[in-house]
Amino acid sequence: AEASLRQSQKMEAIGQLTGGIAHDFNNMLTGIIGSLDMMRRRIADNRFDGLERYLETALGSAERAAALTHRLLAFARRQPLEPRALDVAAVIQSVAQLVTHALPESVTLRLAIADDLPHALADSNQLENAVLNLAVNARDAMPDGGELVISASLADPARVAAIDGAGEYLLISVADTGGGMPPEIVERVFEPFFTTKPLGQGTGLGLSMVYGFAQQSGGTVRIDSRPGSGTAIDLYLPTTRTAPVADDQVSAPAHKGAG
Ligand code: ADP
Repeated sequence: AEASLRQSQKMEAIGQLTGGIAHDFNNMLTGIIGSLDMMRRRIADNRFDGLERYLETALGSAERAAALTHRLLAFARRQPLEPRALDVAAVIQSVAQLVTHALPESVTLRLAIADDLPHALADSNQLENAVLNLAVNARDAMPDGGELVISASLADPARVAAIDGAGEYLLISVADTGGGMPPEIVERVFEPFFTTKPLGQGTGLGLSMVYGFAQQSGGTVRIDSRPGSGTAIDLYLPTTRTAPVADDQVSAPAHKGAG
């Protein structure tokens, strides 16, 4: 039950689109396995007529599954975003509410959100998914308990110079006191499908999606992790000084927003 709870939280974090894809993919595998199984039985019975029909079904399913994984990869890398001026504190608070239900008693959650932050220019659903993914990873890194800290502040200009050398950034950091990662793992965590979690517990898509989201938003992600000293994942997002756009105006082009 714990594994399926974790899985369902993970799917929630990845979003409806990926959840739908996993479901469809499973249906296609069922089609392939069913057709191959029918073929095997017929061959065992020396009934070679009509085999082509099963072969065709299996091939068709496999081709659709392949097309689906391409879409999934494209989704992980560059899904369409709706960047808007958003209140990062509100997003973090809503993630915190979700996350507290999923934390064991041995893990404490602390928020450290600076006052008077400018708005971030990003897609709010994507930011919520990203922070949720990072928080779930942090929890998973602390099976023996610890502290999860989600913080938001104005990024130190010296540290963001490498992003594009101009502009102002928000730093959203998700830190844990878990086991940390050796450099050879840190190097690979942004790869789609890279996971060290047991089968059925990790998709390996969380951090690749966080990375894709940051890139698409004109920001970046940095990892500060060492074995034995926990992990901090730092998400840098560009700020905007224009007022947030109301929900009923989302279809209006961004440059015609308030200002
Ligand atoms: P998943 O969580 O499904 O494995 P992710 O892409 O989110 O996929 O993470 C990939 C891998 O990165 C994890 O399997 C884990 O090995 C490592 N990782 C991510 N976050 C942390 C963390 N906070 N502490 C330690 N390892 C982490």
